[in-house]
Amino acid sequence: MIIASNFKTNHNRATTKEFIDFINTQHFFSEVRIFPPFTALDDFDLTPNIKVGAQNFFPVQKGSFTGEIGFEQLDEFDIDTVLIGHSERRHILGETQKSICQKYDFAKAKECEIVYCVGEPQEIRKQGIEAVMSYIWEQFDSIDINYEELIVAYEPVWAIGTGLSASLDDIKEVLDSLRAKIKVPLLYGGSVKVETIKDILNIENCDGVLVGTASWDVKNFSKMIEISDNL
Ligand code: PEP
Repeated sequence: MIIASNFKTNHNRATTKEFIDFINTQHFFSEVRIFPPFTALDDFDLTPNIKVGAQNFFPVQKGSFTGEIGFEQLDEFDIDTVLIGHSERRHILGETQKSICQKYDFAKAKECEIVYCVGEPQEIRKQGIEAVMSYIWEQFDSIDINYEELIVAYEPVWAIGTGLSASLDDIKEVLDSLRAKIKVPLLYGGSVKVETIKDILNIENCDGVLVGTASWDVKNFSKMIEISDNL
């Protein structure tokens, strides 16, 4: 199982270090991914099943792109796992499928592990599963789904940061459809909590979770990893 924490715009250098140091002292079998803000990236001494990744990057090694972070900066911290396509970047920050594909191809060329996020907004969900899947497949336009370092996260937009998780049946339906074409690990994300993670991880074709809000408290995150380990 893969248990991932997306800090978004939360935590600072000191609290990120405390968080990672705490997780590092735990012994577990699950694969753990932590995505802190750029300013908190550092040379962490990590146990092999933990990786610290980047929430975003600009698809260049280096150059003149004021305010952006390229791979020269990420390489300094040996970052080789990245989030791409998160709904907050697509819907709040206006990332297009074209710019997402540029990032995807760049990260693939760098042989990074890519956690690629897809998911439908509320108005599409209301139209039923066919509309949901056709919306999601469009988010795979020009994306190499056979890339061996790919992890796909299904994250319905309306469930992210709202406290409203998709139902177990709805998650299963989407993951089953994804699994029919995609062989890489499939995660669910959207208001996962300590109380709900076990049932979600027990869904067939669910290989883990990407968690925002409920993971920012290290004790909660650690509990989620423990639940995953004990499945
Ligand atoms: C996320 O940011 O990917 C996410 C799933 O957030 P939350 O758990 O807060 O819904």
